[in-house]
Amino acid sequence: MSIFQRSHLKSTEVLREAQEDMFHRLFRQSYPPLDWIQVEISSFCDGECIYCPHTEYRRNWESRILPMELYLKIVPAFKKTELVHLQGWGEPFTHPDFSDFLRLAKEAGCTVGTTTNGTLIDSEKIRELVDKGLDIICFSLAGIDEKNDEIRKGTQIRKVLKSIEEIHRIKNSCSVDNPRVHMAYMLLRSGLDDVDKIPAFAKDAGVSQTVVSSLFLPVNPAMEKESVLAADDEEYRELMDRFREIRNDAERRGTEISFNIVSHFAEKSICPENVGRALVVGSDGCVSPCVMGQIPVEGDNEFYFKGDRRTIETLSFGNICDETINTVWNKKEYKSFVRELSRGNTEHICRYCPKCFTSDLQSVDSSYLGLPIDLVRV
Ligand code: SF4
Ligand code: SF4
Repeated sequence: MSIFQRSHLKSTEVLREAQEDMFHRLFRQSYPPLDWIQVEISSFCDGECIYCPHTEYRRNWESRILPMELYLKIVPAFKKTELVHLQGWGEPFTHPDFSDFLRLAKEAGCTVGTTTNGTLIDSEKIRELVDKGLDIICFSLAGIDEKNDEIRKGTQIRKVLKSIEEIHRIKNSCSVDNPRVHMAYMLLRSGLDDVDKIPAFAKDAGVSQTVVSSLFLPVNPAMEKESVLAADDEEYRELMDRFREIRNDAERRGTEISFNIVSHFAEKSICPENVGRALVVGSDGCVSPCVMGQIPVEGDNEFYFKGDRRTIETLSFGNICDETINTVWNKKEYKSFVRELSRGNTEHICRYCPKCFTSDLQSVDSSYLGLPIDLVRV
């Protein structure tokens, strides 16, 4: 590149930054139009799933609930947000104010969803959720029978199925369609034998949409083995064909299944998360582009990917304790991060984030079920 070209590029960059500054000054009061905001209302959890950071990093885990006064600072942004998902790294129904959070998001006109392990909801709670207009309730499972309970320790598939049945019963008695029941299915290598049975299981349970995910954040070497679903590229392609068949089977049965699988054989690609039109607020008020940069732990905690041991890093551009959400969103460094990420230029944890190695089945499945991948994590 010539000196002239270099100086031209530099002045273009300076001009762009000046324009961004001016835009920011003019519009800093306006909230961004967002597809969704994910709010970690609680990082407490009564479960001990074997693959979860909450279990592996238990000594460093920060169990906390989002105070109502912080939630109220997010509410103005809901006016321009499609979906509010009340869940992060924890069990949302451990928060005593869940119903008020739901009410406030509904009053702002948002679609509201949550993901739960199902342990803390009973008939009374379900009736309240129906009355308050919850749109989506997603249950987390890692199996279609009691093997689930071995993986998702502290939870019970029997209880989840009973809750789903009760949701349908109450919806029918009230003649309403919501909440729709979704399922977030964690597929470990040891659970591959049962994957073909998921469509029938989902249909029988009255689950309308299922996202089957492989493990994105292996928290120890044993879990890294569980996260690799195929031994080599050829086996991996066969597996993708099998998943397509399962998806077709689900369609024939009248339920939807999508797969979100990390590939250990894929080249690194662009981050699949919707960082340009969505954000995550942690239970401490930190604003992040995704949940991967928002794990509520202290100290050094490791994860394992492609044979390497990596340290968890946080990725946040501000905190609503100190600033409004639109101030954080409009920060130059946040905008620059989003822009560079979309070009494949990664820094922070994104340099080696497993989410950048998702399979080509994900692009086949780009009609993704209407819920962002992060929202169906547990
Ligand atoms: S996966 Fe969900 S239910 Fe299980 S321990 Fe983690 S936060 Fe709790
Ligand atoms: S690359 Fe990973 S850490 Fe970075 S924004 Fe995407 S999902 Fe989050």
